Amino acid sequence: MTDYGELNPPLRILMGPGPSNVHPRVLRAMSTPLVGHLDPEFLKIMDEVQELLRYVFQTKNQFTIPVSGTGSAGMETGFVNLIEDGDEVVVGVNGVFGERMSDIAGRCGGKLTRVEAEWGNIIPPEKIAEAVKGKKVKLVAVVHAETSTGAWQPLEEIANISHNAGALFLVDAVTSLGGCPVKLDEWGIDVCYSGTQKCLSAPPGLSPVSFNERARQVITSRKKKVQSWYLDMSMIEKYWGKERTYHHTAPITMVYGLREALRLIQEEGLENCFKRHELNHKALKKGLEKLGLSLHAHEGHRLWMLNTVRVPEGVDEARVRKRLLDEFNIEIGGGLGVLKGKVWRVGLMGYSSREENVLYFLHAMEKILDGEGWKK
Ligand SMILES: *Cc1c(COP(=O)(O)O)cnc(C)c1O
Repeated sequence: MTDYGELNPPLRILMGPGPSNVHPRVLRAMSTPLVGHLDPEFLKIMDEVQELLRYVFQTKNQFTIPVSGTGSAGMETGFVNLIEDGDEVVVGVNGVFGERMSDIAGRCGGKLTRVEAEWGNIIPPEKIAEAVKGKKVKLVAVVHAETSTGAWQPLEEIANISHNAGALFLVDAVTSLGGCPVKLDEWGIDVCYSGTQKCLSAPPGLSPVSFNERARQVITSRKKKVQSWYLDMSMIEKYWGKERTYHHTAPITMVYGLREALRLIQEEGLENCFKRHELNHKALKKGLEKLGLSLHAHEGHRLWMLNTVRVPEGVDEARVRKRLLDEFNIEIGGGLGVLKGKVWRVGLMGYSSREENVLYFLHAMEKILDGEGWKK
C-alpha cells in the first residue's frame, strides 16, 4: 500500500472569488469535540447561530437557518420551495450567478422571464418594472453581489417594484453578506440566501437562508409538496424550530465554525466590518491604478469584496495567476463566461480583506507584470 503521508496543504492567501481565508479561531472551533445533533448543548448552539444570523442579515425573521450545503444549495432552496409548475418568475441575469438562478427557476417548472444586462453592469430597475407589468408574478430574483463581474446591484427599488406587482423578492447575498450592508427587513427582501466561504470566512459547506412570514405563507399554501426532499423547508423548519424533529444529521462541525465566524463579526461590529471591506477595496483600487490597471465593473456599482481587474493587452492572464500562486502563494480568480481571459477576479472577502494582503498583492503584481515585460 502507498503511504500517502499526513495531509499538509500549503498556506495560501485566498484572494479569489471564494473561498476566503478562514480565521484561526474558526478552525479552532471546528476542532472541538463532536456532540450529537440532538444533544441539548447542540440545540443551544443552533439557537445561538440563528440569533447571530439574524444579526448579520439585519432581520427579525424567525426562520433564519443555515442550510446544509454550499451557496448553490441556498439558491436551490429559495426557488424549489417557492416555485410551482407554471408560476411566473422574473430573474435578473448579468453574470454567472443570475444565469444559475435562471437555470434553477426553469428546472422548478417556473415560467421564466429573464431580465438581462451586460456583464459588469447592474440590472436597471426599470427593466424589472417592465418585466412584471401585466403579469401575475410569483417571484422576482436578483443577485446582490455578482461575483463573476464585480457588479453591486442596488435592491430597494426592485423590492418595491416586486411588492407592488404582488411578487416575492428573492436576493442572492452569497458574496455580500458580512461584507456590505444586507438589510432584509428595512429593504423588504422576502427571501435571502448566502454562503459561509465568502465574507463570513468559514469554510464552504453551509448556506444561511432567511424567509420572512410572507414567504413562509407561500410555502405552507403550496398545492404540491416541494420536489426536493432534502431542501424542503417545511420539514427542516421542524428541526431548527421548537419541535426539534430529526430530518437529516446537521453538519455539527460546520455549525461550530459558522458560530465562531459570526461571533467574530459581532465582536468587530457589522458597521466596522463593512468599513474595513470598503477601505481595503479603495486601497486596492488606488494601487491598481498606480500600476496602470483598471477595474471592469461599472463605476458607481463596484463591489468592495470582489474586484474584476481588466487584463492589459498582450499579458497572459493565466500565466500571471499561476505565477501569483507559485511564487507568492496568492490565489486569485480568472474570468468566467464572456469575461474569460479578459479579467482577473481579486477577492477581498472577510478575513482575507486585510491591509497587509492588499499591499502584498500589489507588490506581487508589480513584480510579475514587470517580469512579463508589460509597460503601462
Ligand atoms: C459563490 C456564489 C454562489 C454559489 O455558491 P457555492 O458555495 O459555490 O455553491 C452563488 N451566488 C454567488 C453570488 C456566489 O458568489
